[in-house]
Amino acid sequence: MSLSQSSYRTHNCGELCKKDIGKKVVLSGWIQKLRNLGSITFIDIRDYFGITQLIFSKKFKKNIELGKEFLIKVNGKVVERVSKNSKIPTGEIEVLLSRIEVLNSSISPPFFIEDKTDGDEKSRMKYRYLDIRRNPIKNNLKLRHNISIEIRNFLSKNGFLEIETPMLINHTPEGARSFVVPSRIHSGKFYSLPQSPQLFKQLLMIGGIDKYFQIVKCFRDEDARSDRQIEFTQIDCEMVFVNVNDVLIFFEKFIKYIFKKIKNIQLEPFTKITYSDAIKMYGTDKPDLRFEIKFLELNDLVQERGIEFFKKKELTIGITIPKCSSYPCEKIHSIIEWMKQTKIGIKDIFWLKYFPDKTLFSPMSNFMKKEDLIMFIKHLKANPGDLLFIFYGKEKMRNQLSQFRMKLINFLKKLKENIKIFKPLWVTDFPLLEWNNKIKRYKPFHHPFTNPKEEDLHLIKKNPENVRSQSYDLIINGVEIGGGSIRIHNKSIQNLILKHLGFSVKEIQSKFGFLIRAFEYGVPPHGGIAFGFDRLIALLEGKKNIKEFIAFPKNNSGKDLMIDAPSFLEKKKLNELYS
Ligand code: ASP
Repeated sequence: MSLSQSSYRTHNCGELCKKDIGKKVVLSGWIQKLRNLGSITFIDIRDYFGITQLIFSKKFKKNIELGKEFLIKVNGKVVERVSKNSKIPTGEIEVLLSRIEVLNSSISPPFFIEDKTDGDEKSRMKYRYLDIRRNPIKNNLKLRHNISIEIRNFLSKNGFLEIETPMLINHTPEGARSFVVPSRIHSGKFYSLPQSPQLFKQLLMIGGIDKYFQIVKCFRDEDARSDRQIEFTQIDCEMVFVNVNDVLIFFEKFIKYIFKKIKNIQLEPFTKITYSDAIKMYGTDKPDLRFEIKFLELNDLVQERGIEFFKKKELTIGITIPKCSSYPCEKIHSIIEWMKQTKIGIKDIFWLKYFPDKTLFSPMSNFMKKEDLIMFIKHLKANPGDLLFIFYGKEKMRNQLSQFRMKLINFLKKLKENIKIFKPLWVTDFPLLEWNNKIKRYKPFHHPFTNPKEEDLHLIKKNPENVRSQSYDLIINGVEIGGGSIRIHNKSIQNLILKHLGFSVKEIQSKFGFLIRAFEYGVPPHGGIAFGFDRLIALLEGKKNIKEFIAFPKNNSGKDLMIDAPSFLEKKKLNELYS
């Protein structure tokens, strides 16, 4: 891009090449590197677009003081470089200076402003504007921009309207704590910042909007982590007259479109499993399917065969690790030791090697009949060359098996080989409610506006835990990328669910009166989903830390280190709120 109009530059620092040799140019940018070789000096000048090498002789430089990150404007002539640099687009030329002007000086930066920096996260957060000058962060922001354009293109083309919803609202129970904002005019009253636009998007559907989306900031007062910020961005969507399948089919297309456009990756058809199968097969509702290994229940089998050893166990589960029978016994022992020592706490486990020549080896051989071991091999569909683990114990060990599975995968060094593959998965039919022992009440598994499965609704009084909902999560490589549901659109079902969540009639009126009122006016069936935008970008780049993809993120304790927020409020301000 040529900027001939500007007095600051005729070209940017990333565009000059061999064809420009002989041209007189003006460039502006920051000094990235300065090499004074005595008779001549080299400068690498950097702007948003790239780096150009400048050169001038000793005679030329008068009394100008220069240093790293000084902002300079230079005039000069493009010449061919003697020693070329094939790594950068401008590597064949340099600019021989005739004039140099310091537009702004700089103190020495706290870390190297280069692709590889010595800055730790704390100082990169504190001086985020300097961090943004670095390619890795700048490119992440460009990527974020490009993805948001593709999202808008795709959804707009498919009839979605982007509509903004308010930021100052009331608290809605969506599973996290809300941030509150005191009202000055209505002293003693508070707004809440939205955990998501959930109810507003539903009200838009009641308002006759056919399809809605918004790339929107959401706020949750939770502990931050590398993959969670208290202030984050969702791609929030809602549609009328849809069932679960309609939503899954459409948003599978959407995700495939983004992967194709941004990474040129053609995703395979998404796998779909129910929540209860996910727990049974992987011990988690967020399984990483890059690794084919899954658990198989052996309860019926061991009871049927009357194997004494397992008779009294609540649960027996097996897992096959393909092509790992040659894995050294000491390493297997170290996995088992790790399991025993960590809070995973599964102690009862044994392993079985099924060698390529179909012979077996297991420390359990002395205690079990060979036919029983063979039966495990058959049942777990193991092939010669596989390694098998069998766990036995209490039902609750199920929750810990997922950690074991991931640990096993790490141990087996498979992670690296598979890192570039993307394996999306829809998990469906989550429970509607779960018992919370702390508050001695049911809590919604997703949120209180999720429609139960019609065929389960009769269980709501006697067996609320067994009611499944019309809900779904999108998991890619073990990361929850999105989640949503078909919503309740019937007033009495909404009332029933709110009552089951422990809200009194009075509370329902005061907290959800507006919703119940809207339910009187012909609510259309509707459903939707929200994707974590920051997480999606990080995943596309194969990274975990979403901070790298947010211009001004908070640290893991919710602080903005650059502006030092949160901060105390001046007394005068406080008084204003409470006067
Ligand atoms: N509002 C929900 C959430 O933020 C997503 C949805 O149900 O559409 O998790």
